[in-house]
Amino acid sequence: MPELPEVETTVRGLARFLDGEVITRAATNRPDLRRPFPPELVQTLTGARVTGLGRRAKYGLIHTDRELTLVFHLGMSGRWRIDPVTADKHDHLVIETASHRFALNDARRFGSVDLVDTALLEQWPPFAVMGPEPLGDGLTAAHLAAAFKGRVQAIKLLLLDQRIVAGLGNIYVCEALFRSGISPTRAGGKVSKASLARLVPAIRQVLTESIADGGSTLRDYAQPDGELGYFATRFDVYGREGLACGCGAAIKRIAQGGRSSWFCPACQK
Ligand SMILES: [Zn+2]
Repeated sequence: MPELPEVETTVRGLARFLDGEVITRAATNRPDLRRPFPPELVQTLTGARVTGLGRRAKYGLIHTDRELTLVFHLGMSGRWRIDPVTADKHDHLVIETASHRFALNDARRFGSVDLVDTALLEQWPPFAVMGPEPLGDGLTAAHLAAAFKGRVQAIKLLLLDQRIVAGLGNIYVCEALFRSGISPTRAGGKVSKASLARLVPAIRQVLTESIADGGSTLRDYAQPDGELGYFATRFDVYGREGLACGCGAAIKRIAQGGRSSWFCPACQK
């Protein structure tokens, strides 16, 4: 499932070919993904110039000179293919510039595509309720302390709450809690200021390292069937139940909020 680093890597990869270019052709090969494509999508994109790309949480943003931004979400299985040599039946949206072809491929169709007024992006309902970007200036120890104050819910679940921090997925929460020595079960309101001061840089590190790993796979992206945004990162605890932590203790897995948490019971308190 594409997480924030994969979306960031995808956006950077698309930007290299798409930023500043005119979309000469756009086509949809079915009416919908998770929800219908905007009815004006093809008409809006055709002839539009891309004025920039960006990301908000796990959404990719393609800004156009039509004052509208194409907002895409990769869902469970979405990916962009650049200059694919063969068509694929899951290429649901295809856009072309004078020199390149981009296909949004989504086998399971949990993804989405929307057109949003660029000036009103922050007020778009999914964005309006989101907390700060984990790689932006808004994520600070003081922000987390205020959000966690008096909360008895486990810090793991609070960090997955998009209203507190936008776009953090299970992998990165597990890894950041490990690096900052905080147990995933600790009540949010009981996490010390010193721990929160370690947590913020840990969150940034796990994300930036993963983005860097993705960036290194991008060197090959121009291969004929180049796919963006999927790469394997080595994790300290995620998916490592029963294996030894660096301290020698066995990594544990527990269920929290219907999802697994991996942690070291010796290193994380
Ligand atoms: Zn350990």
